[in-house]
Formats: sequence, structure tokens, C-alpha cells
Amino acid sequence: MDVRNIYCVGRNYKKHAEELGNDVPEEPLLFMKPTHSLRTEEKAVLPSGQGEVHYEAELVLHIGGMWEKGSRAEDLISGISTGLDLTLRELQQTLKEKGKPWLPAKGFLGSALTGPEQPLPEKELTSLSFSLEINGEEKQLGFTADMIFPIQYLVDTIGRTYGLGPGDVIFTGTPEGVGRIQSGDEAVLYLEGTETGRFTFT
Ligand code: ZN
Repeated sequence: MDVRNIYCVGRNYKKHAEELGNDVPEEPLLFMKPTHSLRTEEKAVLPSGQGEVHYEAELVLHIGGMWEKGSRAEDLISGISTGLDLTLRELQQTLKEKGKPWLPAKGFLGSALTGPEQPLPEKELTSLSFSLEINGEEKQLGFTADMIFPIQYLVDTIGRTYGLGPGDVIFTGTPEGVGRIQSGDEAVLYLEGTETGRFTFT
């Protein structure tokens, strides 16, 4: 299915909001990436000359049905993957200070990486775990139970406000442990302990 809208959630884990010195939001902090930013190939290219690029490991929801009031997230989601929301962190900080949109820091070509779409695990959406290793070392470990706004709430907020339908994708936010990614690094993502994505960076 062609990807239509790429919705992203900022600051959806308390400890991650705190590590960047941000307040915990009262409603989901939503932003978007262009569809052109999406990559699924193992070889990934980082932007150069624009300051530090950070990895943010996230659970990614692939939407297969049209949202309407009362829709169950489990019924709308056709698959799930693990991905990286790559961020030009220094540029994002500058944009934040100037009150400018995040697009240049979050929406550049190759900024949305996802591994292959997986069937939904036979578990509650509120009890999934995922993790990221960089060069063999675990950097992030996330539990959907720690989301400030759980998946059903995200789906409802996005569906009601902006619309949510087949082909849409949601990056659901990153747990603590974000950091710099550089040329030569290898990132491996896991969902429930099984490898679900691998990227090597140049
Ligand atoms: Zn993110």
C-alpha cells in the first residue's frame, strides 16, 4: 500500500521529554514528515553539514482502515514496524528558539526509516516492548505502557482532527536514550525481542 500521511508524535514518553528539557505535553504534540522522507532500505544516508543527527527509535503503526468515531485501534492497524525518526537536533533547537516549524529538522529526505511491516503481535497494544542497538550496544528500550498518550488515544486524536485512513503511518514517539548517529554506525531494532529492522549509515 502506498504511504499517504506520515504523522509523528513528539514527547510521548515522560523520561524522553525530560532528557531534552521539555515540558510533558497535555495533548499529543503532533507533526508530520513528507512521504518523500520515508526509507525502508538497509543502507541509509545521513544529511551532512547541518550539525548532529540523532536517532529516535519508535513503534510505527501502519493504518489499513478508515477511522471513525468508536474505531478500535486494533481494527484500524494493518501492521506495525519499528523505525527511526532521524532528527537534526541542533537545527531543531535553533528552530524551536526562533519559534519556527520543525520541518527542516525532522522532514529531510531519508529522515523516516522503517523496517518491514509486521503483523500485530498477539498482545495488548499497551504491553508491547521495543528496543534499539547501535553497534551492538542497547541504546533505547521502550514500553508502550509508558506512553503518555496510548495508541488508542493517538489514533482517536489524529482521526478526529486530521483524518486517518488506509496508507497512513504513525510514528508514536521515542523513549529516553536518544543520541547521535554517525556514518559507519549500524542500528538494529527489535520488537518484542525479535529483530524487525536493520540500518547501516553512510
Ligand atoms: Zn520522534
